[in-house]
Amino acid sequence: MKLLSAVVPCYNEEENVADFYQEFIKNESFFQEKEVELELWYINDGSKDHTAREVKKLIEKDKRVHLLSFSRNFGKEAALYAGMEKANGDFVVFLDADLQDPPSLLPEMYGYLEQGYDSVATRRVTRKGEPPIRSLFARLFYRLMKKFSKTEIMDGARDYRLMTRQVVDAILSMPEYNRFSKGIFGWVGFETKWLEFENIERKKGETKWSFWKLFIYSLEGITAFSTAPLAFAAFMGVLFCVAAFVFIIFIIVRKLLFGDPTSGWPSLVCIISLISGVQLFCLGIVGQYLAKTYMEVKRRPIYLVKEEI
Ligand code: UDP
Ligand code: MG
Repeated sequence: MKLLSAVVPCYNEEENVADFYQEFIKNESFFQEKEVELELWYINDGSKDHTAREVKKLIEKDKRVHLLSFSRNFGKEAALYAGMEKANGDFVVFLDADLQDPPSLLPEMYGYLEQGYDSVATRRVTRKGEPPIRSLFARLFYRLMKKFSKTEIMDGARDYRLMTRQVVDAILSMPEYNRFSKGIFGWVGFETKWLEFENIERKKGETKWSFWKLFIYSLEGITAFSTAPLAFAAFMGVLFCVAAFVFIIFIIVRKLLFGDPTSGWPSLVCIISLISGVQLFCLGIVGQYLAKTYMEVKRRPIYLVKEEI
């Protein structure tokens, strides 16, 4: 018998825990035929509601369900990492608790593993039901990443992914603190089959990602998988050096030809403020990388466990 572990990160998902279980377990007969056992890991990411209680109810009924509670909210990335560490399966799949990642897709995904793929990933092709401004920025983000990062990051990619043990171990071998899964998946490589599906709106509860949280997360993604902004800072430096050099020659020539001593104050102020702005901006970019390095160097644990059942 093989084992398939499902990892479900949960942050304030008390309404969804039981519904998810019902939906997931519908695949039971399919996997029985394939001689694959199932296990289910709910990673309770410091929920402030009764998520843990709901999971415990399930555990009483079904021994294949497990619970791992964090000591506080560490974020979805930490929950996915913890899930991979705990999962015993020959295959591991990540699913959202809100049923936006339809468990009914699992048999098809498993089929591709049987065909020899190492991992089966999903992406949504529509963003129906999402605020337009959010979609716009998401598109922009993926376009930027495509340009600046050598790692392949698919537009609309979800974290819904079925992987073999080999891929899971590869991802676990990257114990970095600033985790950006969408990039990590691409970075480890292996043969990946992409499945597409239409966006499904959240069943119950509400999204945990505000626009601001997503914005910060996208910066995380850019700094974690690209050093292009640093090169950009250097490029701006060179550009302004050249401009300044041309300007110096211009001033000298003008002085020699016309002997104009005092004019030019407004332009001077403009130039100084422009260049100091660019300088601060570039310093900020460098600071971002320094901050990431600082956090990384501390080697803090990615998550802390409060309870494991
Ligand atoms: N989640 C989590 N920790 C967090 C935020 C979210 O474990 O800090 C979980 C959440 O419970 C859900 C999944 O991550 O199962 C996706 O979150 P959500 O549905 O809010 O994001 P969206 O689908 O709106 O992008
Ligand atoms: Mg969701």
